Amino acid sequence: MKSLFLVKIVGFASLLMTYSPASKAITDQDSDHLCLGMGAILGCLITLLLVSYFNRHYRVKYQKMLQRLKFEKSNTRIAEQTMKTLAKEQEYSQDLLEERVQERTLELNIALQELESANQELERKNVLDELTGLHNRRFYDQKILAEYRRSRRNLTALSLVVIDIDHFKSVNDNYGHLAGDQCLIWLSKYIKESLKRSADKAFRYGGEEFCLILPNTDAEGALLLAEQLRLDICEHTFIFQEIEIPLTISCGICTYQQQVDIGPEQIFAGADKALYQAKHDGRNQTNQFTFIE
Ligand code: GH3
Ligand code: MG
Ligand code: MG
Repeated sequence: MKSLFLVKIVGFASLLMTYSPASKAITDQDSDHLCLGMGAILGCLITLLLVSYFNRHYRVKYQKMLQRLKFEKSNTRIAEQTMKTLAKEQEYSQDLLEERVQERTLELNIALQELESANQELERKNVLDELTGLHNRRFYDQKILAEYRRSRRNLTALSLVVIDIDHFKSVNDNYGHLAGDQCLIWLSKYIKESLKRSADKAFRYGGEEFCLILPNTDAEGALLLAEQLRLDICEHTFIFQEIEIPLTISCGICTYQQQVDIGPEQIFAGADKALYQAKHDGRNQTNQFTFIE
């Protein structure tokens, strides 16, 4: 009802706008029909205008949306491609990195092995005498202290034998220093062979002087070992360039059995005194030192 009234008003307004005094008088019925018709036409026109307006408005809106969608779609494709390229590059970098790490690890391992063998060689050189292959003086100083402490702790005997070649100077003087060196090597072989236990150690103390540390060995046992070595040297002949060079050694022994106020220095001094006595008594013999308590 309301809309019909609205149509009538619009129709009447348009009739007024088109009315002229020249036109003939209009009846109430005619005016009703006319109003209705005009209202309907205007309503249609407005509807058409509205439809065309909304149609155009939504088409533009739809096209814009479509464009935006297309743009977003292409953006997504570009983003996907970029992601793929990035992932590939990342994978490649990862592989490259792993390869480099493996290479460096290998190089590091080789360097470590070289360092370890260099250290071992250094350690070996640190404790061994180059010429004879026996332990050196530096190692003697460490070993005698360690064995002395062990002897005190375990209340076991510790013997030290000092060995010196008799008239070694004449070997050098008569056959040359090379013969002297070969003589030291030859003697060292017998010294090594004389040791019976793994705890027994032989050292080149200096020049043509050697010593044996015999842990857990009393004076009797040390004398037996030293005498066997001395006899061995006496019975064999050192040969240098087909020349037989007879050699003898003298030995001094000192045995520590927890005597009061006796340390490693006193033990060595005791063995050295015994050696001096052996030399004094005519060489090629073994002498034992005893501590006076
Ligand atoms: P003694 O019976 O009193 O021990 O007499 P000796 O001649 O053996 O003793 P001395 O101490 O008078 O001489 C030791 C010699 O040892 C002197 C030195 O030239 C020699 N000598 C020391 N070290 C070496 C070495 O490494 N090689 C050689 N060839 N000779 C050495
Ligand atoms: Mg000497
Ligand atoms: Mg000598």
